[in-house]
Amino acid sequence: MKDVNKILDKLEETYPDAQCELNYETPFELLIATILSAQCTDVRVNKVTKELFAKYNTPEQFAKLTEEEIGEEIRSCGLYKSKSKKIKETSKMICENFGGEVPQTLKELTTLPGVGRKTADVVLSNAFNHDAIAVDTHVFRVTNRIGIVNTKTAEKTEFVLMDAIPKNRWSHSHHLFIFHGRRICKARKPECDICPIKEDCDYYNN
Ligand code: SF4
Repeated sequence: MKDVNKILDKLEETYPDAQCELNYETPFELLIATILSAQCTDVRVNKVTKELFAKYNTPEQFAKLTEEEIGEEIRSCGLYKSKSKKIKETSKMICENFGGEVPQTLKELTTLPGVGRKTADVVLSNAFNHDAIAVDTHVFRVTNRIGIVNTKTAEKTEFVLMDAIPKNRWSHSHHLFIFHGRRICKARKPECDICPIKEDCDYYNN
């Protein structure tokens, strides 16, 4: 059995500034930034949203734009056609079904077009301070390599992590695993020699 608290303590020492790397001021801005971040870097998303949110940053404003107009603004984030469609439809639904406010439950958030569990968990934990573990590609890879989980899907990973990690550490552990995945436990070539948790890692020890 892994001592998950010990692993998280070491990651906290290594990444004292681990936090959401998307820039936002409101829950709605974070929701849009998270939709834009699919297959795109946070740096690129932050560049785009800096200009975008200066012009439009409410569901009412986005609901009135055409998909083409949104597409023009977000083109450099990639997959811009499908992202514009999701942003437009999600904005419309927030206005029509939720009184113009981003809903605060997983169940309601995942009714929005383009909002899966990961995006919903990111919004819940960062914008609303709920305890949640969003599982993205980094969290999935890093926790499987360490051996905290042995899973095939993001959803299963989330449930196993919720059992393995104390609830008050769920949200922050998401940022720690992402920081570790981006900086040391990289997808193609993990830098195990300089890794602070190698003693506790199955990938390294097997
Ligand atoms: S030892 Fe290597 S595989 Fe394990 S967590 Fe560290 S970088 Fe990742």
